[in-house]
Amino acid sequence: MTGITRRSFLAGAAAAALAPLRGLSQSRTRLVLLGTGGGPRVTAKGRAKPATLIVANGIPYVVDCGDGTSLQLVRAGIGLDTLRYVFITHHHSDHNLDYGNLIYNGWASGLRTPVDTYGPPPIVEMTESWFRLNRFDIETRIADEGRVDLRRLVTPHEFDKDGQVMRNEDVKVTAARVRHPPIDNAYAYRFDCPGRSIVISGDTAVAPSLVELAKGADVLVCEAMHLAGLERLLAKVPNAATLREHLLASHTVTEDVGRMAAEAGVKTLVLSHLVPGDDPSITEAMWLEGPRKHFKGEVIVGRDLLEI
Ligand SMILES: [Zn+2]
Ligand SMILES: [Zn+2]
Repeated sequence: MTGITRRSFLAGAAAAALAPLRGLSQSRTRLVLLGTGGGPRVTAKGRAKPATLIVANGIPYVVDCGDGTSLQLVRAGIGLDTLRYVFITHHHSDHNLDYGNLIYNGWASGLRTPVDTYGPPPIVEMTESWFRLNRFDIETRIADEGRVDLRRLVTPHEFDKDGQVMRNEDVKVTAARVRHPPIDNAYAYRFDCPGRSIVISGDTAVAPSLVELAKGADVLVCEAMHLAGLERLLAKVPNAATLREHLLASHTVTEDVGRMAAEAGVKTLVLSHLVPGDDPSITEAMWLEGPRKHFKGEVIVGRDLLEI
């Protein structure tokens, strides 16, 4: 695959059969919003950090790993020992802070089968660094508890170009670079699954590449920012002098989300990565107002653990 580098911690180990997902339908492609609030700030009552789950043919695909993703997966009824594929859209911490922790928590829950992870650079270095950071615990548990070596289960795949990222017998995953300055390597993913196509925008300003990727998809899960709450949000973050400029240049306001969904011709638009994600004065009707000016299909305001 062009533009892909691959480093394996799985030195020829045979892949054991994946344990079946407990208590889930095997037949339908499921979409579950694990965390729907954008940004890294921890709040008591706000939404969980960005993460989205697709379950296709019983196999979980996790897209982004904001802080708390492991817990949200458990709350969604997914056994962490069934972890199989992880995708990162870009390396802002609200999308990757639980990346290593999620894999570790899978291992703590009994994971002994391969995990493939995908994302832009430096996902290979980050994976290695995470294992170095936690070497003491990992090696202690291998020796003391007789666990398999977690480092040999995980294969990070790094890419820096548009195109097919992975394909198996169930799912084809395609990435397209989106607009999220100053980060160059920010991607949206399209999952073509049995009976359903789902696009996840990641973080982006208005981007023709996202519209192109989402053409004809069943569902577009798109980030959304509501201008009414922006000033109140900025007042809560006094140590970030240029945060306003970043948000306006790198994210998409609700009206433009509707424009992109209409142009792409998707059936369902799901608003997620809501910014602000913890401002109750922005009602569901207010979130819907902008998209509905332009998009005539179904619009859903995402909430944590909502299945679509
Ligand atoms: Zn974000
Ligand atoms: Zn971001």
